Amino acid sequence: MQVTEYQDIADLMTGTKVTVFVKNRCRGIAYPGDTKVVVPAWIQSRPTEYQYYYVIHEVCHILVNTHLHSRQFKAVECYWLAEFGIVPIYGKSGRRAYPTQLKSAAGPTLFDSGRE
Ligand SMILES: [Zn+2]
Repeated sequence: MQVTEYQDIADLMTGTKVTVFVKNRCRGIAYPGDTKVVVPAWIQSRPTEYQYYYVIHEVCHILVNTHLHSRQFKAVECYWLAEFGIVPIYGKSGRRAYPTQLKSAAGPTLFDSGRE
């Protein structure tokens, strides 16, 4: 996906308040209270649904105004992933910060990190 498509996702979520940048770095960045998110370029070689997930995750940090992966953060993340037909699975205990799998709303697994 291109950065313009990432921007479309952020615009749907925030009404054009957040700008998405793609940079060569290890991890994404979203500063609570800020109006920009950075996603790493390496996600562009991952499955489309994973790219959706990554952008939605970073934008949620701004929507919820936290850098934490709190219960509230995950509730908002789940809401927005569902809007795009994606269901996150947060590991067997349900307590991981990042989903171990992404499933489609219809059931099939879209992404599997290989972690339990
Ligand atoms: Zn995060």
